[in-house]
Amino acid sequence: MRKLNTRRQWLCMNKLLCQVCGSPAADPEMRRIPWALTSTVFERIAPDGGRTNAPPTCWSCIPKALEECPMLREDFAVYTVAGATSTGVLADLYEPGIIAYLPILTKHNAFVAWDAPRHHGAALAVAHVVELHGMKPVAL
Ligand SMILES: [Zn+2]
Repeated sequence: MRKLNTRRQWLCMNKLLCQVCGSPAADPEMRRIPWALTSTVFERIAPDGGRTNAPPTCWSCIPKALEECPMLREDFAVYTVAGATSTGVLADLYEPGIIAYLPILTKHNAFVAWDAPRHHGAALAVAHVVELHGMKPVAL
């Protein structure tokens, strides 16, 4: 999941596009968004919600994603979600080094919320994170 192109990841998250085909992921009949997740890219923070850096996957592409993504084959769950809200980034965090203030990596792949500005100056974002709302599990 982390190998997804950064620009594509941000575009898919911002516009809720399918990470496989790039089409709108939302199901217009259900008025919900299908989302395939693994435990490595999802953090539950409410009974029916959580944070992820994995973009949605449309119904048409879920079989292909399961077939071609080793992470999904090992551990996945499919949900439909009512909505997604931008909540922050996954980032590498740095601090000034002693020698010529060359930055030193202090934390890799840390969640940095938009409302935690004290970390923003030290963060180099690598992925957009959204909070999923109204999650309902789907049996495939
Ligand atoms: Zn698709």
